[in-house]
Amino acid sequence: MTTVDTAREIISRDPRDGRELGRYPVHTAAEVTAAVEGARAAAARWSGIGFAARRKHLDTWRRLLLRRADELIELISAETGKTRADAQLEVILMVDHLRWAAAHAEKVLRRRRVGPGLLMFNHSATVDHHPLGVVGVIGPWNYPVFIPIGPIAHALAAGNAVVFKPSEYAPATGRWLADTFAEAVPGHRVLDVVLGFGETGGALCRSGVDKIAFTGSTATGKRVMAACAESLTPVLLECGGKDAVIVDHDADLEAAADATVWGGLSNAGQTCVGVERVYVHQAVAERFTELVVAHAKDLRAGAARESDIGPMTTPEQPGIVAAHIQDALARGGSALLGGPHSVRAPYVDPVVLTDVPEDSDALTQETFGPVIVINRVASMGEAVEKANACAYGLGAAVYSRTRGPAIARRLRTGMVSVNSVLAFAGVPGLPFGGTGASGFGRVHGPEGLREFSRTQSVTRQRIRPLLQPLSFRRTPRTMDILMRLVRTVYG
Ligand code: NDP
Repeated sequence: MTTVDTAREIISRDPRDGRELGRYPVHTAAEVTAAVEGARAAAARWSGIGFAARRKHLDTWRRLLLRRADELIELISAETGKTRADAQLEVILMVDHLRWAAAHAEKVLRRRRVGPGLLMFNHSATVDHHPLGVVGVIGPWNYPVFIPIGPIAHALAAGNAVVFKPSEYAPATGRWLADTFAEAVPGHRVLDVVLGFGETGGALCRSGVDKIAFTGSTATGKRVMAACAESLTPVLLECGGKDAVIVDHDADLEAAADATVWGGLSNAGQTCVGVERVYVHQAVAERFTELVVAHAKDLRAGAARESDIGPMTTPEQPGIVAAHIQDALARGGSALLGGPHSVRAPYVDPVVLTDVPEDSDALTQETFGPVIVINRVASMGEAVEKANACAYGLGAAVYSRTRGPAIARRLRTGMVSVNSVLAFAGVPGLPFGGTGASGFGRVHGPEGLREFSRTQSVTRQRIRPLLQPLSFRRTPRTMDILMRLVRTVYG
């Protein structure tokens, strides 16, 4: 979807033909603050109803989302241009994560007893996970439902209210999510949406929310963190990636090539955990690249329903993709499939490059288009070293019949799939997030629930202590006895 800022309005358009889909007023900073205040009032009731009632409400919302899934799929497709199959996958994953968060919140966040230890044996110790209050969620355009549902579902399941600022390229999808929630759960206004551009996101950071969960580019993530620093608002940053696939000499090459092509080209390559680069063992490099080209060469980008690849969603993206291809070729890389001519905005046909120098833009920056770079390596050690040399550390994949998990554990990324690509994103119990320039904090899984809670430790004295070191009335003898005890037990 492309948008035009007519000062106070977002115009949502279909990127395939520029067709206007709707107009939405831009929220001012004052309106954002009012939305957060409204959410705060709702949050108090929502946190009070407890886990079981929240689960029931979230399950009701999920069933409504599924009943109206076709509507949502059409909307995602219209705003982003993505193919129907890509939009369907997004909705399927979204539903699974929503179900998981609702079903597991109580188990993960309920009060837990902790052993008091030797020194405080006369106390009981417990940990509570209280809701934070109001969570601000800032979302990207590339997966306008699947990505924000992570923080939204986990924050709601943990007992918080959410104010969601969708991307300027997906306002209708964001609004649709909040409207369906209000319809399914009429008694609780705990999911609100504010619309606008970067300034609206900035206003949300400064609105007094209790946490910001941001997903977007690394550059914007830094701005979000700086804005949140002013009020010490905690942030979770899910930023860009430059995911690598590592192909060992004993890999199932057919499966690796198929997955590489899908991981690199689906959603027109606009996937944070999409395949952007491949390091393949030299012993199998020739066969692997032949297979990748064979799989990719008949895939076509276009507006037709049967197209394999949709358009670039934003108007700037084709230019970035073209610049990366040109830079790679100018520095000595070769095109095995396509090339600069593959970019015919808003579409980009599949491009496969090889022998690209490691310091090229196509290997150091997010390309975010249907471009795959394949470089050969002499060993898996070299593959790991090159994969880890990148500033990003989001996801990765390893293809190897015998050494997959061992190679995976040497990668400096938040997630790895062995003998598949992107599988980690489909396992709701697994935390999702990155390291380095890809950000920090986790959505999904138990860690994703804890991100949206305030941990509180409570001790309760059960019996009076025989020795009291936590008082000015303690005696030197008390401290000597304790010192001896600690030496005996821990020495
Ligand atoms: P952007 O960084 O451009 O925008 C992300 C969100 O931040 C949008 O809602 C945007 O609003 C908003 N925003 C922009 N400026 C500010 C600001 N100063 N303060 C607060 N909010 C602001 O990312 P994209 O939408 O282009 O998304 C693509 C990026 O997201 C890629 O880098 C991709 O890798 C990453 N991503 C990461 C994922 C992960 O889980 N790690 C998952 C999916 C995507 P507006 O759109 O109106 O400008």
